Amino acid sequence: MRTQAIALFHRAFGGSPGTVASAPGRVNLLGEHTDYNGGPVLPMAISARTTVAVGPGEPGWLELVSARDGVVARVRWDGVMPDGWTRYIVGVQRELAARGSAPRGARLAVASDVPVGGGLSSSAALTVSTARALADLAGADLPPADLIGVAHRAEANQVGVRCGIMDQTIAVRGRAGHALLLECATGRTRAIPVRARLLLFDTGVRHQLGDGAYNTRRAECEAALDILRLTEPGLEYLAGWPARRVQTLRRLLSGTLRSRALHVVTETARTRAGADLLSRGRVRAFGRLLDASHESCRRQYECSAPELDLVVRAARRAGAWGARLTGAGWGGCVLALVGADSARPGTREEAIRAAVNRSFLRAYGREPSVTVLRAGPGARRERVQLE
Ligand code: ADP
Ligand code: MG
Repeated sequence: MRTQAIALFHRAFGGSPGTVASAPGRVNLLGEHTDYNGGPVLPMAISARTTVAVGPGEPGWLELVSARDGVVARVRWDGVMPDGWTRYIVGVQRELAARGSAPRGARLAVASDVPVGGGLSSSAALTVSTARALADLAGADLPPADLIGVAHRAEANQVGVRCGIMDQTIAVRGRAGHALLLECATGRTRAIPVRARLLLFDTGVRHQLGDGAYNTRRAECEAALDILRLTEPGLEYLAGWPARRVQTLRRLLSGTLRSRALHVVTETARTRAGADLLSRGRVRAFGRLLDASHESCRRQYECSAPELDLVVRAARRAGAWGARLTGAGWGGCVLALVGADSARPGTREEAIRAAVNRSFLRAYGREPSVTVLRAGPGARRERVQLE
């Protein structure tokens, strides 16, 4: 992607970029719908990345091109917010300017192999790589925590997407061979080694009810929290309810709110336990938590979809050590754990791929796309010269 971004810069603007930076997409291994409830998540940076090549430009202006359409856009960055993807770049530029770390104007070329809108967080890969590149161009020092903050505010406040800090944090702090246990309430992180073979199946479906249901779930969690606070006034987040007191929680809540809260509280415990298991190399036990997470998403949180359940079932039947939906649900992707790295999972992997493809083809007349997931590094500066 580095070569593509530099070549695109050259084609669109002439000459070489001043700086080049890149940031990865991500997949969340465990911790579904825990982020906005103040719980932990376990994302892993993947090898697909977005690369941004930048050079100086006319003060007050940004000239932008993405390899996706190759069209050069010219926008004033302190004027009316534009539509479309350039908002993300304008948002980053404004957030950098607010802390005195922005160039006055810039030219910028984007190349990426992170699928856009596919739940692998192409948006954070874009904002983080852009923030890194623009700050470098301005000669500003941007420590990791500030890089996360700039990219997050660009998406949340400037673009207006109601998102947590997971995507930007992993895009910055990702580490090759590791996932990251991120406690969303405090921002604390711990690198967790991943010695496992993982597959990601993309069902390609995005159910219409997704966005509405997401907002409904958030409201339900707030309502459950309000009720629990009558008994526990100091409870700051739903995820803060201790898992060992789930019987009390069952008594205090009923119906839908009870189901939602049960998912959040058990998923919080599973995510922390899963991180511990992974770090001790107990991959098979980790897989059982993936299965439990999926069942909890399906039954308690009701955020699965028939396509996801079918892939999960087929993968498990074919020998996967665990499988679950990832990326909020109602469509999107399934993560399947093939086995430990050391176990030479080659034939099992073939069996899982074949079984999932066969079942999906029979039910829906097509095959899902599949990717082997490898934990890659976080945001970094790239070499500017083409060799
Ligand atoms: P996700 O982050 O899951 O991929 P989002 O809806 O959060 O999905 O972000 C996708 C948006 O980010 C796209 O619609 C586009 O505006 C922007 N984007 C991401 N990557 C690129 C890219 N390489 N080129 C142009 N725009 C991009
Ligand atoms: Mg996104």
